[in-house]
Amino acid sequence: MFPCPKCSHAVATKSGIVKGRQRWKCKDCGYNYTVANRGASKEQKRQALELYLEGLGFRPIGRSLKVSHVAVYNWTREFGEKLDEIKSDTEIKVVEIDEMHSYVGQKKLLLDLDYC
Ligand SMILES: [Zn+2]
Repeated sequence: MFPCPKCSHAVATKSGIVKGRQRWKCKDCGYNYTVANRGASKEQKRQALELYLEGLGFRPIGRSLKVSHVAVYNWTREFGEKLDEIKSDTEIKVVEIDEMHSYVGQKKLLLDLDYC
């Protein structure tokens, strides 16, 4: 539990869930506040994925990052889905970048001519 952001009172009662986050109601001033899921930081996820790609199992990764192996499993699955998205997007992105590149190239050429 987190102290009230308004009065720093440390006692609060659960007051429902908002957008997947636990909402708390301060017992002192009655202020409602939510706290970010005390789940993983981006850094933790990144480390978990690195370890996973090195061939470590979910449990050892979980142990070394002090998270549950279920969380590790979910992150790698999340990552796998993103990887698929990236793969299917690759072709389109390459074309876009190429166009951008030749556009920038042309513009630079014109600028160079202006200088002459
Ligand atoms: Zn309060």
